[in-house]
Amino acid sequence: MAQDTSARKTRRARTRSFQAEVRQLLKLMIHSLYSHKEIFLRELISNASDACDRLRFEAISSPELLADDTDLAIAVDFDAGEGWVEVSDNGIGMSEDEVIQQLGTIAKSGTSDFLAGLSGNEQEDARLIGQFGVGFYSSFIVASRVEVRTRRAGLDAGEGVSWSSEGQGKFTVRSVPRDRRGTSVRLYLKEEEKGFAEPYYLRSLIRRYSDHIAFPVTMPGTEAGDQDDDTEAGPSREVVNTAQALWTRPKRDIKPEEYQEFYRHIARDSEDPLCHAHNQVEGRREYSSLLFVPRRAPFDLFNRESPRGVKLYVQRVFIMDDAEQFLPLYLRFVRGVVDSRDLPLNVSRELLQQNDDVRAMRQALARRVLDMLDRLAGDDADDYQVFWDEFGRVFKEGVVEDASNRDRILALLRFASTSSDDDRQTETLENYARRKPDDQNEIYYIAAASPAAARSSPQLEVFTQRGLEVLLLSDPIDEWVVGHLSEYEGLRFRDITRGALAADDLPGTAPVEAADSIDSDDAEALLKRMKSVLGEEVSDVRSTSRLTDSPSCLALGEHEMGVQMQRILRASGQELPETKPILEINTSHGLFRRLALREGDAELFEDLTRLLHEQAVLTQGRDLDNPGEFVRRVNRLLEA
Ligand code: ADP
Repeated sequence: MAQDTSARKTRRARTRSFQAEVRQLLKLMIHSLYSHKEIFLRELISNASDACDRLRFEAISSPELLADDTDLAIAVDFDAGEGWVEVSDNGIGMSEDEVIQQLGTIAKSGTSDFLAGLSGNEQEDARLIGQFGVGFYSSFIVASRVEVRTRRAGLDAGEGVSWSSEGQGKFTVRSVPRDRRGTSVRLYLKEEEKGFAEPYYLRSLIRRYSDHIAFPVTMPGTEAGDQDDDTEAGPSREVVNTAQALWTRPKRDIKPEEYQEFYRHIARDSEDPLCHAHNQVEGRREYSSLLFVPRRAPFDLFNRESPRGVKLYVQRVFIMDDAEQFLPLYLRFVRGVVDSRDLPLNVSRELLQQNDDVRAMRQALARRVLDMLDRLAGDDADDYQVFWDEFGRVFKEGVVEDASNRDRILALLRFASTSSDDDRQTETLENYARRKPDDQNEIYYIAAASPAAARSSPQLEVFTQRGLEVLLLSDPIDEWVVGHLSEYEGLRFRDITRGALAADDLPGTAPVEAADSIDSDDAEALLKRMKSVLGEEVSDVRSTSRLTDSPSCLALGEHEMGVQMQRILRASGQELPETKPILEINTSHGLFRRLALREGDAELFEDLTRLLHEQAVLTQGRDLDNPGEFVRRVNRLLEA
């Protein structure tokens, strides 16, 4: 990918192309983020803060990296006349290889899929790109040229690197002398963006977006005269932000906007979180935690390998990103910070896995998240619904993963149900239990590929007729989840497609018997004959009272695996034992009566029998073994 230009320039200057994904991101970003141009400053300060965090961390084992420059800080400089803004830090810096890697590629996996999935709708794309994290590249929203100068901590003054680009697909890297460690990013502003080099504006942006940054962010002091100050040498500097780790401040002093900006920084999200929980725990274990529930799922939420977990600090020193040991897997959407007083500074991931304190903290943090969700559900049902729509599918795993909190998790579940026409999952088990008739001691559910498919299942008919509510499950993991639920408040969960169902045992009023039903002995004989037509395709043919309108359906054996689960496992390539369903017939239905009347016509009897079976297969969302045969049969019957 590297393209060496002529050696006429300095000896080591090399021009390279951005990775294709970066070129695409640059183009998209400039078009979609034009109404949030000021975010570049927040992103650069955020990177500078991370660079200081990383240096402090590396200095735990290599104190010499700090040398005599121990006060980590971020400086924002500007020249309104020339129209540039510069963000500098004395953090970890970058070596030449790192510069080429970090500022020429995007390391996140799934990036090209993500970019390919953007809609072209600017507002929507802006939101998605924000959630993807634009970082350093957002400089090009306002800059026509960006120059980076950096030196990796621990390297010599001769090993500085300069990087520059106009954001048009190429960048140039050369080695330069640099007397300080750390990074300076200078943005030469586009003509129409020069307003960003005004000190008052910069100061207000820093206060608004970067106040929570734990390192001092400084600007040239006002009394020095902003316009003609030589910023490099300017003697007086002013700290613009609070410069204290947000989670260490007393809760009552922190404004909601400060929590929001902090969230945006740590989660690299352009939207506000749904809610947060801030706790300072004292006693045997001392730690602070600040946890957030995002408003949107990240693009890679369902990728099990994608990073998750909280940022870990020990005594305010940043230790690692994505410390997944502090939250159970089903809460992997939670973002935040944990700062422990007790863990050793040199703690490793391996150590975290075995540490009893960490295990206890994980349990406590899980409870805090459940508290936070309880509060959200109680205070703001709409926001809770946003949470559920985004993360419900992940959160449900908690039913299986976290038995110790199962009752609390159950109370937070939401379901689609026959009680409303809304296909979204909005109903609670509590409401189900409150609405059901007194003599109903089960919670009925049906699983299908979609809420619409569940709603049109023939198995629902008798329940609808009697006004009994049925939960409509359609997420792939639902059957697995419900399989682990024995009961809620003494009510057992019952799959209404499973086992035999005697309508007489159901609560509610029985319907009036159909007047002209067939004598039951005759019906039994017909069902037997149907079974012999179908042979091995079904395990039995029996009459049912499940159905009121449809002629037939399939029932699962009491202990058989659910249909959705079978479908998922097969799709993932697993071999499952062949199971044969039971064909159930509504013996009051007109088609069955026709079968009885035309018993003598063997061909018609077979066609009708097979058709009843095929209909049942189709309504269950399964594929027919022989669709062509089915179509010919239907046509034959239509013509007859
Ligand atoms: P992100 O910060 O989300 O990883 P960016 O595009 O903002 O993405 O930055 C890419 C990488 O460049 C960072 O991960 C970091 O390794 C490096 N980087 C950016 N700014 C700095 C800086 N000020 N000091 C050191 N490294 C930096």
